[in-house]
Amino acid sequence: MTAASPNTDRSAHHEVVIIGGGFSGIGFAIKLRQAGFEDFLIIDDADAPGGTWHWNTYPGVAVDIPSFSYQFSFEKRKDWSRSYAPGRELKQYAEQCVAKYGLAQFFRFETTVVTADWDGRGGLWRLVTSTGDELTARHLVNASGVLTRPNTPDIRGVDDFAGHTMHTARWDHSLDLRGKRVAVIGTGASAVQIIPAIAPEVDQLTVYQRTPIWCMPKPDIALSRPMQWALGRIPGSQTVARLASQAFVEITFPVAAHYEGILHFRPAAEKAARAYVRSQVTDPETREKLTPRYGLGCKRPSFHNSYLSTFNRDNVVLETSPITHISADAVHSAEGGAREIDVLILATGFKVMDPDNMPTYTLRGVDGLDLTDWWNEHRLQAYEGISVPGFPNYFTIFGPYGYNGSSYFALIEAQTAHIIRVLEHARKERAAYVEVTQAANDRFFAEMLRRRGNQIFWQDSCANANSYYFDKNGDVPLRPTTTIESAIRSRRFKMSDYSFG
Ligand code: NAP
Repeated sequence: MTAASPNTDRSAHHEVVIIGGGFSGIGFAIKLRQAGFEDFLIIDDADAPGGTWHWNTYPGVAVDIPSFSYQFSFEKRKDWSRSYAPGRELKQYAEQCVAKYGLAQFFRFETTVVTADWDGRGGLWRLVTSTGDELTARHLVNASGVLTRPNTPDIRGVDDFAGHTMHTARWDHSLDLRGKRVAVIGTGASAVQIIPAIAPEVDQLTVYQRTPIWCMPKPDIALSRPMQWALGRIPGSQTVARLASQAFVEITFPVAAHYEGILHFRPAAEKAARAYVRSQVTDPETREKLTPRYGLGCKRPSFHNSYLSTFNRDNVVLETSPITHISADAVHSAEGGAREIDVLILATGFKVMDPDNMPTYTLRGVDGLDLTDWWNEHRLQAYEGISVPGFPNYFTIFGPYGYNGSSYFALIEAQTAHIIRVLEHARKERAAYVEVTQAANDRFFAEMLRRRGNQIFWQDSCANANSYYFDKNGDVPLRPTTTIESAIRSRRFKMSDYSFG
């Protein structure tokens, strides 16, 4: 069976249903099978696996975490073409994992979960899907990711544009940008990769920036055949590469964000980043506009070797005055007037902390309690970023305080280990019901709030960052721990933090 072969088993009940077939769902399913669970289903709204890397195919798309870390520890590739793999290789890697671990038969594609209701009497979840199927599951695992639902900006007239509009996560490859007048709205991580990739081929490119991004050089090198050979043949070389890369990621992301108080290295890093802007951008005014006014790390920084210098091109304009509206043929800004365009690219990110994204479907637990409402009322929280009281047999990979900013893969493995331990324990105890205790959840939440004091998010310099990390309560539900701590805790938490029945 190939990676593309869909699940044809229409049976309505499964021991485990996994929502999402990106790397979280794939990684979880691999470990689930290895633990001896064979009755499960992976539901995904795409027509193939890969999640983020299935949907994001824009020009220049690549990972911004070194590939030696951005892969499963148990499935290390030795033939990445670059130190930061392009998106299509990650999509291939997802398909290879699906094929190698025999997961194709478990997938149901082009299907979205619409509602999930806990049936206390039956001790199972009742799901309704977009295709009208009604399914039941003993256990429900949310692996639907966070950055999945394209955000259309609330700019007046955005729907009135008569030319071609596309969001970065829904790139239309049939559209030829050569000779076109193009506008990009947004300067986040996606825009940083698209802008240098398309600037040489378009006629004119106007970039609408609301908040500049910290952009630093990327140690992105081609991995030559001899290097790939060495990775494949020299014992331990892949492990060494992974450890070195993981240490780099750990220091530049979670340690920098969560332990700033300890390291005090941010001023030096900001100075270096400012010097980099100066070295790349020739026009002083443009340089000034591209220099962030908030602390490095308040929002996710980016790494690219030609993003900043792209603004030296004659056909690229940086517009920083606010967009007032969009008409049939132009983007209008407060000071830049109307700029006529043929193509509008929305690099405006994703719904993140929005209620309709947390989760992406209606989830009702014990006594019909709605998870979105519960989180609205009690703030975002989940025991170890995974389980919520009142929602038995439900686990989420990368729930609140599950993600610490590091490579997703190490964290997927940690969260997967936690959930599989619980499922194995339930199987051993012949328990049909498992729920995290209120006390364990409260203890964890209190710990996260206590430990977040060291995070840079609470410093004054983050006030201007406009970061999607912050939710409506002003919380940043990122886990203030190292990746190693997450991994250790996932294997050592007390099973008595759950009640089984
Ligand atoms: P993003 O970081 O959320 O950036 C969205 C951009 O659109 C921001 O510049 C934002 O401005 C702007 N924007 C949103 N609404 C706007 C409006 N109404 N008017 C004007 N500007 C508006 O989205 P993204 O670039 O897609 O990246 C999202 C996340 O995906 C990243 O943080 C990263 O975690 C991940 N990502 C990773 C990679 C990679 O690994 N290579 C690549 C792409 C994305 P403000 O900043 O002012 O809000």
